[in-house]
Amino acid sequence: MNEYPVIIIGAGPIGLAAAAQLSERNVPFEIVEAGPTPAANIQTWKHVQLFSPWKYNIDAAASRLLLAAGWAPPEADVLPKGADLINEYLQPLAELPAIAPHLHFNHQVVAISREHIDKVKSTQRARTPFIVRYNHEGKEGELKAKAVIDAAGTWNQPNPVGANGLPALGETNPTLPITYTIPDITGTERSYYEHNNVLVVGSGHSAMHSILSLLEINSSRKVMWAVRKEKLNDVFGGGEDDALPERGSIGLQLKELVDQGKVEVFHPFYIKRIVREHEKFTVIGENAGEIAEIKEIDQIIANTGARPDFSYLRELRVEAESAIESVPALAPLIDPNVHSCGTVPAHGAKELAQPEPNFYIVGAKSYGRAPTFLLATGYEQVRSVAAVLAEDHEAAERTELNLPSTGVCQANRLSVTEKSSCC
Ligand SMILES: Cc1cc2nc3c(=O)[nH]c(=O)nc-3n(C[C@H](O)[C@H](O)[C@H](O)COP(=O)(O)OP(=O)(O)OC[C@H]3O[C@@H](n4cnc5c(N)ncnc54)[C@H](O)[C@@H]3O)c2cc1C
Repeated sequence: MNEYPVIIIGAGPIGLAAAAQLSERNVPFEIVEAGPTPAANIQTWKHVQLFSPWKYNIDAAASRLLLAAGWAPPEADVLPKGADLINEYLQPLAELPAIAPHLHFNHQVVAISREHIDKVKSTQRARTPFIVRYNHEGKEGELKAKAVIDAAGTWNQPNPVGANGLPALGETNPTLPITYTIPDITGTERSYYEHNNVLVVGSGHSAMHSILSLLEINSSRKVMWAVRKEKLNDVFGGGEDDALPERGSIGLQLKELVDQGKVEVFHPFYIKRIVREHEKFTVIGENAGEIAEIKEIDQIIANTGARPDFSYLRELRVEAESAIESVPALAPLIDPNVHSCGTVPAHGAKELAQPEPNFYIVGAKSYGRAPTFLLATGYEQVRSVAAVLAEDHEAAERTELNLPSTGVCQANRLSVTEKSSCC
């Protein structure tokens, strides 16, 4: 098996960190990336400021490789935007001679199996190379691998606005003005958003960012916000208790604007149907057992989270937790029904192992539908996975993660917000 490389799916921050870790250990690898550039998903939200400072956003092995090539690291306590993360870190990392020749852009992985055996065959699986099938500019091709690290993220599989997880009736109509990204409201898309009625759907940091941006460009226009949650206070986060002050402050700012009446909040609002009425749209849902309508909408911003893509893993023995769709061992640590923590105990190859030998799901995808993934968690995951693939089992078992706490760690949704971490 050692004649084949490790295939990494996705050149996001975690896929590239996996490459850096493997490179340091002299384990051959190839990265297959669906997009035309590194960090293709972050490219779509490059105008958004991260809430974690540089010191949490750079993988240790990547940093060592970059420093050896003469890189000037950014200041540890500064908060980068998505664009800074790409320009000052991920692009230079992708361009390193140790990585660039092994990075294949516009290669979308469409299926994975094992050579000559399908999912049912049990014999010799661990000694049979993986076959990774990709689509490159309309043509199919295959690579062989001794191991596969799936770092494909979830960002390009957004959740619909339908409260039940299915698209609301009318949501898939191609003429519906709905976006599932975080638009550049204060920048390139300002003139559109200044003059249109916008409904933001969702309760995470992305939705909060969209609402704050809308109010920044036009504080006199009321922003409409539909939230499924019963208690609005659950949405605002850890505030001053958040060890990442920027993350805490987003919730605090929004709470103040909601209290001032600048945001028209519909909650709990369960979206069922979207209909066109003349040139505008009406969102129909249920509120406190009654049918309710949000009218006169020009544009919907759906910031309702994302879900992992398992379609290309059909021929592998892969398990996902049944509710969260995360790697099974992680679910009890990140289940949003129980925890609101961004802080998780360190975990690595052991927890990420799948029934399929030498196959690992890492990064945002390892969290499935849970929204609390942090880069630092992913860097620790791939450090450990790379160590296992290099047969350094002692390093794989060691834990080196130190994450800041969210300040809103709740043992369950009924308990009060508490400062001490339940995790
Ligand atoms: C708006 C926003 C702000 C965030 N802020 C922070 C923050 O401040 N701090 C923090 O720690 N975390 C933050 N996160 C969370 C997290 O760190 C990011 O989502 C991060 O991008 C996850 O990295 P990843 O490498 O796992 O996945 P991604 O960055 O999503 O990268 C996945 C890559 O895989 C590629 N891909 C997907 N499918 C395929 C396929 N089939 N074949 C080949 N390639 C494929 C994609 O094109 C993409 O390049 C934020 C997330 C968002 C959305």
